[in-house]
Amino acid sequence: MVYYVPMDSQVQEIKEKLPINEVIGQYVQLRRAGRNFVGKCPFHKERTPSFHVSPERNSYMCFGCGEKGDIFTFVQKIDGVDFVTALKQLAERAGVVLKQHSYIDEAERTESKHKEEKLLEVCEEATKFFESQLASRKEIVEYLHARGVKDETVKEWRLGYAPASWEDLSKYLLGKGYTKDDVVEAGLAVKSERKPGEVYDRFRGRIMFPLFDASGKVIAFSGRFFEKVLGSKEEGDPAKYVNSPETLLFKKSKVLYGFDRARAAIRKADCILLVEGQFDLILAHQSGLPFTVALSGTALTPEHLSLLGRLSKRLVLALDGDSAGIRAGLKSAAMALQAGFDVKIPTFESGKDPADLARENPELLKAAVRTSRTAIEFFLEALRPGTRDDRAYKLLIEQQLLPLVKVMQSPIDQAHFVRIVAQRIGAPEDAVRIALQKSRVHSVQEAVAEEGGEAAPEPVSLLLPLERAAGMLVFKFEDKDKMPSDMRVRLVELLGQERLAAIETKLGQERERLLFEFESFGTDEAASAEALLQTIERSILEDEMKSLREELYRVGGQESAVLGKRLLDLKRRQQELRK
Ligand SMILES: [Zn+2]
Repeated sequence: MVYYVPMDSQVQEIKEKLPINEVIGQYVQLRRAGRNFVGKCPFHKERTPSFHVSPERNSYMCFGCGEKGDIFTFVQKIDGVDFVTALKQLAERAGVVLKQHSYIDEAERTESKHKEEKLLEVCEEATKFFESQLASRKEIVEYLHARGVKDETVKEWRLGYAPASWEDLSKYLLGKGYTKDDVVEAGLAVKSERKPGEVYDRFRGRIMFPLFDASGKVIAFSGRFFEKVLGSKEEGDPAKYVNSPETLLFKKSKVLYGFDRARAAIRKADCILLVEGQFDLILAHQSGLPFTVALSGTALTPEHLSLLGRLSKRLVLALDGDSAGIRAGLKSAAMALQAGFDVKIPTFESGKDPADLARENPELLKAAVRTSRTAIEFFLEALRPGTRDDRAYKLLIEQQLLPLVKVMQSPIDQAHFVRIVAQRIGAPEDAVRIALQKSRVHSVQEAVAEEGGEAAPEPVSLLLPLERAAGMLVFKFEDKDKMPSDMRVRLVELLGQERLAAIETKLGQERERLLFEFESFGTDEAASAEALLQTIERSILEDEMKSLREELYRVGGQESAVLGKRLLDLKRRQQELRK
């Protein structure tokens, strides 16, 4: 195996060639603020920008959630990739050719990293196996053609076939030198209960859709039923789809099928099309809708939304038209609206899904997406059939639809939809507004709270103004030789050696944040430093005056005259500082 071992010099070279504000600027709208840039943090939800980027120090930091780092950590985090992938990506952009080494010390790699790589290899081998199986089964390829899937699409999405047998894949992988445990842990085989120590293939007689991670590596599979194992005693109808279980590689709530390919298109189109099934997904891409992603056998989660929300806030939800689909859609829409997405829903001819439309005519699918209506308008219509009478319909709207309006972040948007709902159901706007106030958003909010997904975290810490000011100076002029000597003298004079050292220790964790704060004052370092020294002095004066006043209450006579004089002096100095 070949590892990339970036040498520090290469990492440095990439950093120098790629200004951090340009790398981050592709994801976050930044505006200049003094020597730095600020924008809205892509890692937590916020209305006012608290995400700071320093081109000089090649670093970024969010004052809201505390995320910080350099271009590599940024790309890792925002694209959900590992360091090596981020490194390769940025090296390519910077035009830096990475030097390869193949002799890295295995012991240095952590156990789980090692395991992850092993499982990725197993998944990759399995994908190749499934691909070759499909190539040899003409009737399955023909079935795919009949569903509208072109050969290029089969190749591009690496579709395959898991033979209708109990152990073909396992045998193949064991033959490649992997252990039974490896195959089980990759989610491809199941341990036999009847024959301890034996394993059997999880996917049998199924068309295989590999699921990819953000960097395009296969991490799991979804298998659509095609045929039963010959002479199998399995009873009943097999599940239409079988998915990989959760593994070290595969976390359902965080993976979206197609995300790795759709990412760039989503950003470009500023739009996300979310579909339900594997065929929907590959056919949407084939039809010229490259900004499509699909859920992989799970409901929409806050993690999915936070992954998508960094790329675009315009979400088109393509739902199954049946009642279960509508119910799931209500939940997904509420969650997305609450997370600040603009949610639209296309209407498909009854009983059809995106894959059907794409097969008939890709233009039909595109047109349906283009003419999507807002979630509220869609559900106003979709909830009507099946209701007993007009009153039942209105109550259903109150229970099911108003929670969606309630979670909207913009009051103007809310007002807009209150009017639309009132018009459609023929009720006074005031009545709708009162119902809205009463309506509860239970399930949605609870779900979001549980996941801890979007809620803004607490500020990193609350510091006294004096500590912050002192911290900024100490860290900014860390190199004591470079610190202007009079500043050092004044700092010690004001705070004393001991207190200064204590502040430095206490604020060690906040170093990065304080540096950014200092820089946010402007480009004149001397003036900023002077202002901070005055802040410190003011704060010390205030403390001293406060205790003097308290003392004046307690003492009398001669003593109070001395204290009074001292207080007057302090007051005078305070006024000087105010100027
Ligand atoms: Zn943040």
